[in-house]
Amino acid sequence: MKINYYIGITLLLGACAAPTTSIDIESTTPLKENFLFYIDKDTNLHESDLLTTIKLPSKDYLVPSILNLLPNARRDYRSGSHQGIDFSAPLNTPITAVSGGIVVRSNPQHIDVDLDTYNTFLSTSAELGKTPDDIYQYILLGKSVVIDHGYTITSKFRTISVYAHLSNIAEGILPGTIVEQGTVIGFSGNTGTSDGALKNNKGAHLHWEMYFDDTGGRYFLGQNIPSNYLQSNIEALFDE
Ligand SMILES: [Zn+2]
Repeated sequence: MKINYYIGITLLLGACAAPTTSIDIESTTPLKENFLFYIDKDTNLHESDLLTTIKLPSKDYLVPSILNLLPNARRDYRSGSHQGIDFSAPLNTPITAVSGGIVVRSNPQHIDVDLDTYNTFLSTSAELGKTPDDIYQYILLGKSVVIDHGYTITSKFRTISVYAHLSNIAEGILPGTIVEQGTVIGFSGNTGTSDGALKNNKGAHLHWEMYFDDTGGRYFLGQNIPSNYLQSNIEALFDE
């Protein structure tokens, strides 16, 4: 629905005509309520586009309300922004597939680099002003699993989910493995973080992402959603 309204500015200067400006509310400030991401009016995902709802990756931990744990938060230590959700799952919490799909990536052989090397990669990111994809994928995600959900979550986009910083990947979770919703794919940890580089047991959490692909590019859950809608819009994805 388009709403047009007119702002008349009357200049208090003699007989000057009042200029009139038309503002199209839809094109200037689209409502982001119930959108899972919004690039423009053609490229977006709304709750009503979902073919299915998904399950939380760790049943005891809800979508956090703290903005720093949600998508779009700045991550100054690596000159980037957060494209996922940090669930506060303690060390070795079982992590489950949010929906059925095929495992694309599983790297149980991952070994964290030492702290000096880790910091060298962060310095490179700082110099570039962004986190290079190779550093992100091979260093910062640590032990991680990626699941391809194809077009089962929405017919508009191919969807993947990413589970990072795992302490261990579950037995038999390998590229090509078919998983069902709720299948345990690994256990929460701190691999890929500075605590992982220090080989301590601190800072364990699940970093989880969901991406949507089309011929025009890749978009992430929460992208361009204002902070006042973010938590509730994401929770809608997880509704039972
Ligand atoms: Zn995170």
